[in-house]
Amino acid sequence: MNILQTRAEMKNPEVQHVSFSQGFRMLFYLIQPNETSFQNLEEVPNYVKEATPFFISLMLLELLVSWLHKGKPSGRLDDALTSMSAGVLSRLPHLFFRSIEMTSYIYIWENYRLFNLPWDSSWTWYLTFLSVDFGYYWFHRMAHEVNIMWAAHQTHHSSEDYNLSTALRQSVIQNYTSWIFYSPLALCIPPSVYAVHIQFNLLYQFWIHTEVISNLGPLELILNTPSHHRVHHGRNRYCIDKNYAGTLIIWDRIFGTFEAENEQVAYGLTHPINTFEPFKVQFHHLCYIWTIFWTTPGFFHKFSVLFKGPGWGPGKPRLGLHEDIPEVTGKEVPFSSSASQLLKIYAGVQFALMLAFYEETFVNTAALSQVTLLLRVFFIILTLTTIGFILDQRPKAAIMETLRCLVFLTLYRYGHLKPFVPSLSFVFEIFFSICIAFWGIRSMTQLASCLWR
Ligand SMILES: [Zn+2]
Ligand SMILES: [Zn+2]
Repeated sequence: MNILQTRAEMKNPEVQHVSFSQGFRMLFYLIQPNETSFQNLEEVPNYVKEATPFFISLMLLELLVSWLHKGKPSGRLDDALTSMSAGVLSRLPHLFFRSIEMTSYIYIWENYRLFNLPWDSSWTWYLTFLSVDFGYYWFHRMAHEVNIMWAAHQTHHSSEDYNLSTALRQSVIQNYTSWIFYSPLALCIPPSVYAVHIQFNLLYQFWIHTEVISNLGPLELILNTPSHHRVHHGRNRYCIDKNYAGTLIIWDRIFGTFEAENEQVAYGLTHPINTFEPFKVQFHHLCYIWTIFWTTPGFFHKFSVLFKGPGWGPGKPRLGLHEDIPEVTGKEVPFSSSASQLLKIYAGVQFALMLAFYEETFVNTAALSQVTLLLRVFFIILTLTTIGFILDQRPKAAIMETLRCLVFLTLYRYGHLKPFVPSLSFVFEIFFSICIAFWGIRSMTQLASCLWR
């Protein structure tokens, strides 16, 4: 995520890029203090932004390994597209603003710091590594135990598959609470050191979202591993509220939330949302809380709806009752799109083309006008919504897709979008014409059948 830079800073030539070796190693936190220590915040590379090619390469590798080992892909296209859509949506605000995590940190550092740890000391680097990971553990635990925070974090858990694409299923609004847990570090740790570790802590959590790696032997004692995180994503009763770790599993072992993987894990929410629409994936629980808040009588009960666990109800303990969690039978069938395979591939191609615009927008943000930037963001959101409509087979999907093609042509004609493939606008024009023709024929058929009746 582009957590560091404002638009003005994106013009700063001092910001460094990562080498291939660093790019690969940073996904596993295999990085030295001397290669990732910076005096000024502006010098810190945007490691998360640089990670996109590594994410894609590892996802393809996981697909290949899964195919060779199990004879089937590691996930499903509809679910993976929804996860990646959430990843794209969660990054869009960073085109306009510095992340709240960095903004609040800098504010506290500049106004309330108690002392200044040396930015170039290995001790500071290792202390920050531990402190950020400790902060993440408590943020993550609260994100599961406080309903209003769960409203954001549930997005990450809404996938019923478990593969590297699941790691990208991120919330748009989670940052608005996570910053609180890191703010004590701003009393003594320089922002440039914090900015490095907050990114590596996030990046480390990418590779653990896989079923391809079963067990890592003695490393399981200290590190958060795919096996431990599979438990965290489970909806089996033994998995609920377990393994909150970011990089080190020691925090769960210390604070009593550790659980080893034993029986087959069923992934996803205890009450699956059965949709691929990106906005429902992001905000459905917030809407649910809104309804429950107003229908629950009494101030203290309303307060509890917001700040106790998602399973809480009047008369129940803070985190709800274990027996309220639906039992996993092993016969759970993940929700699938009823769209044809061809239509899913079409949605996948449109997503890939959008991703090219999206990446190009991030690279050239500083050179784009505010209007172009806003129009591009609108086009990206429209594309993601339409893909969700297509996958959910919503009746309005055809109209949405026609509208999206029309928006693309308009933006292209007025120079706000450059097609990744030069002849792409022609393809869109053809597709737009076919949609209109299909739409027209269908409307006339419906009209004729009404008149005939
Ligand atoms: Zn979680
Ligand atoms: Zn996860």
